[in-house]
Amino acid sequence: MAEDSLYLGVDLGGTKIAVGLWAGRGELLGKERWETLPEPRPNLERAVEAARALLERAGKTGEPARSLAAVGVSGGGPVDPERGVLLSVPNLPGWDEVPVCRLLGEALDAPCAMENDANACALAEWLYGAGRGARDLAFLTCSTGIGAGLILDGRLYRGSRHLAGEAGHQIIVPDGDPCGCGQRGCLETYASGAGMARRLAALRRERPGLPATAREVTERARAGDEFSLEFLRETARYLALGLANLAYILNPERFILGTIAVGAGGLLLEPLRAELRRLLWPALLEGLEVVPASLGDELGDRAALAVAERAGG
Ligand SMILES: [Zn+2]
Repeated sequence: MAEDSLYLGVDLGGTKIAVGLWAGRGELLGKERWETLPEPRPNLERAVEAARALLERAGKTGEPARSLAAVGVSGGGPVDPERGVLLSVPNLPGWDEVPVCRLLGEALDAPCAMENDANACALAEWLYGAGRGARDLAFLTCSTGIGAGLILDGRLYRGSRHLAGEAGHQIIVPDGDPCGCGQRGCLETYASGAGMARRLAALRRERPGLPATAREVTERARAGDEFSLEFLRETARYLALGLANLAYILNPERFILGTIAVGAGGLLLEPLRAELRRLLWPALLEGLEVVPASLGDELGDRAALAVAERAGG
């Protein structure tokens, strides 16, 4: 990315939207965020207003005037990156076929690119975070759901219909529990935040004092609670099946795991690594690292920046 250029990152989520203005050296100059409004257009108009205000403020800092090199959007739903269109957003009716890049690019007079958030986060961890230096990696979100972004042979791999990386919907339990996607036994049904809460809800019918969420399990596991430690080990076994499948197909050098793995750290990652040692050929394990994401609270903002950087060349 050119050091003397400005990049705009738009993190377009179903609950929150953030607009950040970045200097080319990776410095956040300013940011605005708000709770997602029900209709798409007012959000995009607000993003344009926010961008103009941030650009104006940046122009007053005494630095030489710089124009916007590119806009990058991380979209919280399926995206057509070739057309720059947000196809839909889960739980937001009316957000269908939103031409985000045309609207933002024309209003701000800059090239605009968009990726779905899992792909954008994979790019960010690869460029600035735990994936630096790797040529082949998979990033898994591990939050409410499980999405993945794949960097293969040194570039983002999207697939023929931009659906590559739907790793949360690989089937790990034949005829298992139903998933929101319509299939049964998906990895996400067991190992995502929602999946963990669902497994806990079933156990809590017999034992109401048990933790209810991934966060509570992690907190209690840290305090040494045996149920919670075993629950994380069981979650690791599910997750390991998904990662082993990916490893046999992709032979990556790094798996980078988001939110829940960042929070639980070794309590989840150690049993996960042990399970992978059991499931994978030694040759596949060689040089394979399983690490938590490292960008923390900056991940969403830097995901949009990573897309902008690629759009701006
Ligand atoms: Zn599914």
